[in-house]
Amino acid sequence: MGKDSSDLFGALFDAQKVNRVVPVLVPLPVPEAYSYAVPEGMAVEPGSVVQVPLGPRQVIGVVWDGTDDVRLDPKKLRPITLAFNCPPLTREMRAFIDWVSAYTLSPPGLVARMAVRAPAALDPEPMVEALRYRGGEPERLTPARARVLDLTRDEMPWTRSGLAHAAGVSASVIDGLVKQGLFDTVFLPPPPVVALPDPDYVEPRIEGPQKQAASEIVENMQAGGFSASLIDGVTGSGKTEVYFEAIAEALRKGRQVLILLPEIALTASFLERFQDRFGAKPAEWHSDLSPRLREKVWRGVVTGEVRVVAGARSALFLPFEELGLIVVDEEHDPAYKQEDRVFYNARDMAVVRGRIGDFPVVLVSATPSVESQVNGQSGRYHMVHLPTRFGEAAMPDLHLVDMRRHPPDRGGFLSPVLLRAVKKTVENGHQALLFLNRRGYAPLTLCRVCGHRFQCPQCSSWLVEHRFKGQIQCHQCGYAEKTPEACPECGTLDHLVACGPGVERIAEEVEKHFPDARTIVMSSDLLGGVKRLRLELEAIAKGEADIVIGTQLVAKGHNFPLMTLVGIVDADLGLANGDPRAAERTFQLLSQVTGRAGRTGLKSHGLLQTYQPQHPVMQAIVSGDPSAFYEREIGEREKALLPPFGRLASIIVSADARADAEGHARGLRAAAPRVSGIAVLGPAEAPLALVRGRHRFRLLVHGRRNSDMQAYLRQMLANGPKVRGSVHVQLDIDPQSFL
Ligand code: ADP
Ligand code: ZN
Repeated sequence: MGKDSSDLFGALFDAQKVNRVVPVLVPLPVPEAYSYAVPEGMAVEPGSVVQVPLGPRQVIGVVWDGTDDVRLDPKKLRPITLAFNCPPLTREMRAFIDWVSAYTLSPPGLVARMAVRAPAALDPEPMVEALRYRGGEPERLTPARARVLDLTRDEMPWTRSGLAHAAGVSASVIDGLVKQGLFDTVFLPPPPVVALPDPDYVEPRIEGPQKQAASEIVENMQAGGFSASLIDGVTGSGKTEVYFEAIAEALRKGRQVLILLPEIALTASFLERFQDRFGAKPAEWHSDLSPRLREKVWRGVVTGEVRVVAGARSALFLPFEELGLIVVDEEHDPAYKQEDRVFYNARDMAVVRGRIGDFPVVLVSATPSVESQVNGQSGRYHMVHLPTRFGEAAMPDLHLVDMRRHPPDRGGFLSPVLLRAVKKTVENGHQALLFLNRRGYAPLTLCRVCGHRFQCPQCSSWLVEHRFKGQIQCHQCGYAEKTPEACPECGTLDHLVACGPGVERIAEEVEKHFPDARTIVMSSDLLGGVKRLRLELEAIAKGEADIVIGTQLVAKGHNFPLMTLVGIVDADLGLANGDPRAAERTFQLLSQVTGRAGRTGLKSHGLLQTYQPQHPVMQAIVSGDPSAFYEREIGEREKALLPPFGRLASIIVSADARADAEGHARGLRAAAPRVSGIAVLGPAEAPLALVRGRHRFRLLVHGRRNSDMQAYLRQMLANGPKVRGSVHVQLDIDPQSFL
């Protein structure tokens, strides 16, 4: 079927004249595509983005693969309402969506929805109206008019507002000249959302081991086809410079590039660095973009106008026209796991997308995930090492502070050892970072008289005091109330005590010890949002703070030249929960945070406050030899058949009533097929037993590495009880969270 986009796309059709049937994925949790009739004269093909009626609504869907069902009479089906004027999703993109759907056991329509934008992005942007000097002189030449004419006499077109701005005149001055017939109205294509990056804008900045690393990766790419590489290098070793060369290679081949970053909204410095290397910024993709900009970027990506996107995990579902490389920076970061509707890990799915699209994928980390580490060792990923920091910079000297031997003052959390180090650092004119991965003032508030604990009314979690805001908040659901003066249980006034520290409380302690120091608290919940955080990160980088107190926000990728001390307030914090990745996570987070220090050649230190200095994770971090940690961790996983040596899937059953959730979970357990190599654990009440008023039960399915987990789960769900009432069943393949 021919396609004449000029008059067919975007038009409405007579619903009566239909000639064939196509499958369309609609954004609903249903297992397969729905059938729609194609009105006569409408050209659609697999991948076409369309609008279709669904009940009383109109929704956006995607024409899918599969043969038209000849048994269906097109006249009895509802017709597609319209086809948008945008390129269809490529065959690769459709295969990727099908793959993710099958792997995560998510409805294909919900996966496809992640790839398609709001209607405004689906049609081309309108042309921009502009003015071009036609000739002639105004009746009266005022200075303002003269300025306008000076700018326009070369007959280059200007937008009305652009011209007014450039000439420093009001719009009415321009209107006056237009009225006198001095200008023609012309239409210009809308400006591109970003300029084109140039792979050879500057000479590459790589030397020593970086050169070797870059050439290995580029050679890999020149061989063509899919490959997965892992750049494993300490913080500050130049991993970014190395993968820039991979990007340059992909650009030279005329392919588009996707760079995934865990905290893109906060990495303004990354965009500038990219611009220094390629002469233009990449397009950004994250949830803090305005809807209009998102539409422009989406459209630029499908049409091929945008060559490089730097984005958060959701950028993986952008329908690139000719994607040729994905870089996953900080590949170990838990932020790559989406736990909402479609549960997926963008790092793993990036590798899948590369395999389907037959192009290379480069994973990057200073502390690779155990999964990637094993893939690297087995040769499945091509491993590239950068063992030392670039230039003068040395890794910080790391020491444990045994809190049993050096306890803090009563009511305090900072040991005398750490306080002395902070003092010295500030006296030297350098910066200290105190890291505590806990927002707010105190994780628990209780009444000294009756012991009442403040709990969220809708969740099984304690309310966290946020003293700056005068609130107690639930970190699960966002519930907040004004911090009460009296205990709601016994009525006693002023007897509430804060238990344990959050960053705000550490700030208070710092204030007491260093009243003259300039301190900044960095935490995602503070007022001002991303804008303020960006400004504060810049201020810190410029040396405008002496002591920074922060959550994991400060751990990621930032470069603070004057930072020579990192103090970990509670190194044991992440080890306590029953998560199989607790050791790995703690190791990664603490390595990342201590890696903030000494990036410019100044001698630097890291002090980790711990009550268990003998713990293997603590020992591994201070030894400066990550391989010992990985070896041990990999051994433990192998013994217990934990990922990547075995497979896990979670089933989370929730309902308004506890009995409903529990009953359904038990029903699923009873329906579990009996096969060797796969076992079901639970159901058990989830550690977060109540979230937003919903009761939660969990089952954990544990299988051998080669077991077909998806087939097993599908069978379990099919044999299990029907989902009724408020019951919701959520599957989580390769779970990261066990709460
Ligand atoms: P990583 O990504 O491994 O943390 P970066 O690529 O950010 O390391 O490099 C750390 C610092 O060293 C950056 O400030 C970077 O500009 C600088 N750098 C790295 N390699 C080079 C190089 N070959 N020439 C000049 N500067 C470099
Ligand atoms: Zn809550």
